[in-house]
Amino acid sequence: MEALRQLPSVDVLLNEEAVLGLVADWGRETVASWCRAALDGLREDLRARSDPTPRASLVEELIVQVENRARHARNVALGPVVNATGVVLHTNLGRAPLADGAVAAMTRAAHYTNLEVDLESGKRSHRGSQLDDLWRGLTGAEASLIVNNCAAATVLALQALAMGREVVVSRGQLIEIGGSYRLPEIFRQSGAILREIGTTNRTHARDYENAITPNTAALLRVHPSNFRVMGFTEEVPIGEIVEIARRQQILAIDDIGSGCLLDLTPYGLRDEPTVGQSLARGADLVLFSGDKLLGGPQCGVLLGRAEIIQRISQCPLARAVRVDKLTLAALQGTLEIYRNGNPLQEIPVLRMLTQSADILRQRALKLTLELQEFSAFHCQAQPGMSAVGGGSLPMVELPTWVITVSHETWPAHQLAQYLRTGSPRLMARVENDLLILDPRTVLPHEESQLRAALGNLSK
Ligand SMILES: *Cc1c(COP(=O)(O)O)cnc(C)c1O
Repeated sequence: MEALRQLPSVDVLLNEEAVLGLVADWGRETVASWCRAALDGLREDLRARSDPTPRASLVEELIVQVENRARHARNVALGPVVNATGVVLHTNLGRAPLADGAVAAMTRAAHYTNLEVDLESGKRSHRGSQLDDLWRGLTGAEASLIVNNCAAATVLALQALAMGREVVVSRGQLIEIGGSYRLPEIFRQSGAILREIGTTNRTHARDYENAITPNTAALLRVHPSNFRVMGFTEEVPIGEIVEIARRQQILAIDDIGSGCLLDLTPYGLRDEPTVGQSLARGADLVLFSGDKLLGGPQCGVLLGRAEIIQRISQCPLARAVRVDKLTLAALQGTLEIYRNGNPLQEIPVLRMLTQSADILRQRALKLTLELQEFSAFHCQAQPGMSAVGGGSLPMVELPTWVITVSHETWPAHQLAQYLRTGSPRLMARVENDLLILDPRTVLPHEESQLRAALGNLSK
């Protein structure tokens, strides 16, 4: 009881110098709530303590508690993270980092912008129509619609084009993607009826033909973006699916997952269908994500014939999954680089994926040399592998050069946690109790931040 009376009030705690510093960053209300929580915790704790604690120590304890809460709040807040994992499309780190041109376009659109007005006529226009010419030039698509992500694009397309009717999908393509995307559940949400055909490893053209009834609305091809079926396998190419659909006067829809606009085969990235190929082979509708290999903002893109896009735009669900102006601006900025810039240099995802092992080796060696200044760490450059990530190109590992880091006392997982919550915040990989830094996903201007992240830990 005596000890409880020793506890300072919230107001007294708020005037401690260390706590006042936090008030400037977090506001008085927030810090006061941390003080109250710290006091509640300590009150509980004191009841169990047998020895009395001097008042000064109690205040110290409370300040540490409040500082811990501030640190936690800082760690939780959304903000920049240096990605040294080597996973280019790291879903948990926001997939594609945007190109400078895309960021600039977002900034320009942040205030008023011609989102839904045709400035020439002064009449209402539809959101996203600004991008129609860009898409046509880059992919040959007649019309486009942009929604929140590819999952939304799929639900919307199925609902608008096939509600209450059947859509045929090969069993080898009934995918699950992270974040609770499972195709059968997407179907259930849309109101379209899933008609599975073939087997896990083999589906033939006749399977599609035999499945079509008067109630069939479409054939859907789904690119297995995050897995591969190997060995005794057969898939029907989109061109043939299109022919079957044409003969039966139903639609051929192609969910290619990653919106790859360029052929990346010369860089060792095989098996990824490009948007242009799919449209050229006659798909009525092509769906993909904006933040995978396209290297743009999170969004779902629907490209296809004007009449089909029109039908989809009129579905009430389209309103619920429409994108905001910032996303559209970033997408426009990204597509402009494909049209009249140098995408392999300017789009970070493409620059990272096509960076040569030789350049990566030079970067790893240079960084290793610089990190040797921090004597608590032992750093070494060596060959390694990076992954594409984001459910793209699952079998592809790109040769890279990594820096392995060990600390004189901390185990690797501890070091990784300190780096995640340090300043600047940095994500690395841990393999065989070694911390691995892969320069592939570290943007050039972030190299100094990587040095700072380790430097701050060695103090
Ligand atoms: C990634 C992916 C999706 C889901 O895209 P989100 O933009 O994450 O919603 C759907 N289909 C395929 C084939 C994919 O690869």
